[in-house]
Amino acid sequence: QAKAKGRGAYQLFQPEMEELARSRHALEHDLRGALEAREFHLVFQPQVRLDSSELTGFEALLRWKHPVRGMVSPAEFIPIAEETGLIIPIGEWVLRAACATAVTWPETMTIAVNLSPVQFRSRGLVAMVTNALAEAGLPPQRLELEVTETALLDDNETTIDTLHQLRALGVRISLDDFGVGYSSLSYLRKFPFDRIKIDRSFVGTLGESPESVAIVRTIASLGSVLGVETTAEGVETSDQLEFVRASGCTAVQGFYFGRPCPAAEIDRMIESLSAIRRVA
Ligand code: C2E
Ligand code: MG
Ligand code: MG
Ligand code: MG
Repeated sequence: QAKAKGRGAYQLFQPEMEELARSRHALEHDLRGALEAREFHLVFQPQVRLDSSELTGFEALLRWKHPVRGMVSPAEFIPIAEETGLIIPIGEWVLRAACATAVTWPETMTIAVNLSPVQFRSRGLVAMVTNALAEAGLPPQRLELEVTETALLDDNETTIDTLHQLRALGVRISLDDFGVGYSSLSYLRKFPFDRIKIDRSFVGTLGESPESVAIVRTIASLGSVLGVETTAEGVETSDQLEFVRASGCTAVQGFYFGRPCPAAEIDRMIESLSAIRRVA
């Protein structure tokens, strides 16, 4: 209890905590109206295969433009959306919008969409994905769903079953942000992943951390043994690119090849990345 720590501490922290609670409450309130007010949009970040230097597709990333605060980071609003359950309708909007955009791209291009653990545990998920694909007319093979280990934590039959049902639709499944949090190698044996995405915290510290070097190499060789693609996230420099290539990662995503961009700029992005490929 705050009072037990003495009057001074109580008086010092109280106003700051109240302020924090108030601003979070206001954000939650505004988030409730954001879908209807059409304040969300998607940006798309290129994903590149390393063997052929080929652009294979894009990851859809959600953006919220608050009418007063401006852009609010997903790191700030996704947790609120998860705690309030708002991630269910918001996540459905993301999937529908992502599929509708991807269907306009060349048919070799895939779209990766993030699934929150809360969505993953919701009953209607498989039906929602089925409907979104059907409505957009997007072949399931062009959709990749990214889940984090937190989604798999309550490691039960339902979780495995959901993954199998999604796989049965023809959709591919990626394990996002691998190496941080609860990382457990047993997930990789239990679940039929198509891709492991190595968290960008390792790629970003390759230059200074021998541990990061070892972790990236280990995950890449694990992927190759298991026959699973490995994407290095957060590649920003040519040194990082060459390192992850030499380590055996099969794909990259990061500012080096492109920052997340609005749908309207995708054609130009496809054109410029094809040009890189021609000279590479
Ligand atoms: P994520 O799925 O791991 O997405 C990759 C994040 O890394 C994106 O941040 C992207 O902008 C950033 N990134 C990519 N390359 C680089 C790089 O080279 N350097 C640096 N410094 N950053 C890079 P963003 O868009 O802020 O998204 C953060 C997280 O929010 C995502 O991590 C994902 O977990 C979550 N998120 C975003 N959109 C959605 C969504 O539609 N649904 C759900 N459930 N979560 C989402
Ligand atoms: Mg992701
Ligand atoms: Mg990630
Ligand atoms: Mg993440």
